Amino acid sequence: MPQHHDIVVIGAGFAGLYAVHKFRDELGLSVKGFDAAGGVGGTWWWNRYPGARCDIESVHYAYSFSDEIQKRWTWSERFAAQPEILAYLEFVADTLDLRRAFTFGTRIASAVWDDEDHVWTVSTSDGDVCTTRFLIAASGNLSIPKPPDFAGLEQFRGEVYTTSQWPHRPVDFTGKRVGIIGTGSTGIQVIQEVAKQAGHLTVFQRTPNFALPLGNESLPEEKRRWVADHHAEIRAGARESFMGIPFERPEISGTLVPAEARKAKYDRLWSKGGWPLLVSSYADVLSSQAVNDDVADYVRDKIRARVTKPGVADLLCPTDHPFATKRLAFETDYFDVFNRDNVDLIDVRATPVERLTEGGIVVGGVEYPLDVLIFAIGFDAATGPLVHLGLVGRNGATLAERWKDGPRNYLGIAMHDFPNLFTITGPTSAVALYNNPLAIEDHVDLATDAVRYTLDRGADLIEATEEAEDHWSRIVNGLLGLTLFPKAKSWYMGANIEGKRTGTYIFTGSAQLYRQMTAEMQQVGYGGFVVGTRKAALPPMMKLDPAVLGLMGVLQGQGTKALHDCTVEETRALVDSFSMLQGDARDVEVTATTYPTAAGERPLRVYRPKGRGGLLPVVVFCHGGGFIAGSIDAVDKPCRALADDLGLVVIAPSYRLAPEHPFPAATDDTFAAVDWAARNAARFGGDADRLVVAGESAGGLLAAVAALRARDAGGPRLAAQILITPAIDGAVKTASRVEYAEGPILSTKAAEGMFAAYLAGTGAEMSPLASPVHATSLAGLPPCLVLSAECDPMRDEGEDYARRLAGAGVEVRSIRLDGLIHAAFSMAGVIPRARDFTVEIGAFLDDVLGRAEPQPTRAAGE
Ligand code: NAP
Repeated sequence: MPQHHDIVVIGAGFAGLYAVHKFRDELGLSVKGFDAAGGVGGTWWWNRYPGARCDIESVHYAYSFSDEIQKRWTWSERFAAQPEILAYLEFVADTLDLRRAFTFGTRIASAVWDDEDHVWTVSTSDGDVCTTRFLIAASGNLSIPKPPDFAGLEQFRGEVYTTSQWPHRPVDFTGKRVGIIGTGSTGIQVIQEVAKQAGHLTVFQRTPNFALPLGNESLPEEKRRWVADHHAEIRAGARESFMGIPFERPEISGTLVPAEARKAKYDRLWSKGGWPLLVSSYADVLSSQAVNDDVADYVRDKIRARVTKPGVADLLCPTDHPFATKRLAFETDYFDVFNRDNVDLIDVRATPVERLTEGGIVVGGVEYPLDVLIFAIGFDAATGPLVHLGLVGRNGATLAERWKDGPRNYLGIAMHDFPNLFTITGPTSAVALYNNPLAIEDHVDLATDAVRYTLDRGADLIEATEEAEDHWSRIVNGLLGLTLFPKAKSWYMGANIEGKRTGTYIFTGSAQLYRQMTAEMQQVGYGGFVVGTRKAALPPMMKLDPAVLGLMGVLQGQGTKALHDCTVEETRALVDSFSMLQGDARDVEVTATTYPTAAGERPLRVYRPKGRGGLLPVVVFCHGGGFIAGSIDAVDKPCRALADDLGLVVIAPSYRLAPEHPFPAATDDTFAAVDWAARNAARFGGDADRLVVAGESAGGLLAAVAALRARDAGGPRLAAQILITPAIDGAVKTASRVEYAEGPILSTKAAEGMFAAYLAGTGAEMSPLASPVHATSLAGLPPCLVLSAECDPMRDEGEDYARRLAGAGVEVRSIRLDGLIHAAFSMAGVIPRARDFTVEIGAFLDDVLGRAEPQPTRAAGE
């Protein structure tokens, strides 16, 4: 009988070591580990090439789970070199007595799922077989080297080294003619070192890379101790920041900042060394081509300033991909080595390597004689390490076949048909853009919790559902599509390996967003998984449109306060700031005027599309903002777009806000604006017989109440009402107010607080002027369009109001927009599907007004 374990861990790097500790020492399970290497260390056991070092500061590039380990270990450099990182992992393994769990020098040949007994059968390269209930693939992202496939390789008589399989003895380059192929992070590190020793170095470069100054320094003894003693405060907030390292927050967009200020910022961030130029400059550097070009130009100028050999600087300047869309590299004197007489740079993009000969490399018919050849050509990244495990899931499904079109999984960590398997730092999990030790801890913690959750329920199986995989694929593909990453031929995109399908291999939302999604999945009881026989519903965030998730990531990165924690002034500033999310302002005619209210004249704007003759339908648009915030400035761009897209005269009134002006000030003003519109529409080429009242959020409620008041007052006569994600009833408890209690953007608590501020103790809760649901009858109201957003706490009350209207005989169209959120209508600049609101409004107006305007098209992807 093969030996049985509760857990088999594959890999003894950062991930495998921590996994053994968690499952064995915390859960008390029987754990067996395997690693093909001769000892612990994972990537740091294999990658022993000269110059190998981390490029996330040592104090951050370390486990965070143990105060004791962090206090006992000290780092000698700001960015530690490979021998020190390996020594650190050996120290951790010894401290926690982890080595005895592993068999080293042993590869996994296959792991096959047994769907009857719910165990994995694991076979090793030694021919040993064991079974395990749960399988933890901690095999890393960059552990399968890309094989060199150069013609004539076997003929070359010199020494050949691959950086990721470097010998365990020193390699001496003194006086030798060395060639290096590959200028990624690895190549850049190794070139810096070898250039100083070799007799002559020839660098064969296909693609130049963006490399930033590392800013490494050796740390004096007292500083080392201080860092270890203060690790907690140094690392505080790391997990809440993009990439898992505490950094200065970026500004939201480089497009809003003048050139001199941008340059000053780049200079300051450049001088810090490491990642700040990417993570602390502008939040849209990876999504806006213009902003990215600006940073890229800055880096290229820096390269040109360092490289003196004619023509070489240009060759070293990356131009074929946006900044940071291939993994950023970091350097100390990389660009300077090309000024040395013993270093040559050969462009093998223009003229690829032809073949290897006995004595060198031939490029463009010229032979470059070499004694040593180093391959730094990268890895079959992300999927390669898992596919190579020989995984066979339910019904004989092989991972290789399952992933032939790219990876498909749930949260990057689990797969349908491959139960009880957790892929630590798996493809599409937050890892490529997340400080790896923290990513690893997060994933292992999640896997441990999942196993505990399963066993606590007396179950022996946990498996992602197909539905969860579908949603995760939709999300990671959508997030990637919002970025510039697809413009690079990189391992991020699976594009570095010939024949590998390019696609979504990495999670491009922030690490913080990923953590929020996994936490929510846990909170709702392993939503998207089957545990035993119980299938848990999808977590709410899993339904969101990817652009909404992208926005959440950006707002988190800005440290944006939750609305319900904001003061009135902060709420107003935040709501006004959303106008940055609305894209460009359309060129329409805008008239600023006033309208009379009980409290005197108030501002109002009239928008009319340019170049349109004749009378146009008129829409009075009431802005949102929870009765306490919002303004005609904040809805200027959406009103311009409505007028332009749909051929309307749009009238946007400013109305009095609570708490300074509580109920009924807002409804009195907006009703007065409707009355003004009916009397003045013709002045602006508007057709008062086709007068429509509309509003978003609180403005939706004001629009609905205006329709009620117009009916009861006998005018103005309204042709329709349009309620966009309306707040209808401040007191109601609906399922959506529970499911989306935390938002995004608007939480139930914030909505309740705003409505309470509006009513301000007036005792008007049951007044139909506070909420139209309290009207004795809804009969006789104009046709109504209710546009609800699936992921909005206000969703159900809007839809319920639509049903009540229909019940009262009103012509109603109620449309729910999947994956969208409250306020999405006014965020067209960042949520492309905001356009769907406009499309539906256009179709509705055509029907109720009997016109046929040329229609805008839905956002791509619909
Ligand atoms: P890589 O980024 O994939 O770079 C491989 C290099 O080899 C590229 O310059 C590539 O050119 C070149 N190459 C591949 N095949 C070639 C061919 N047939 N002919 C000519 N050139 C060829 O791999 P890497 O540098 O090993 O880095 C992989 C990842 O490891 C990094 O992105 C990073 O995540 C990690 N890493 C981290 C550190 C650190 O400091 N923490 C250090 C090293 C590596 P093309 O670009 O034209 O394909």
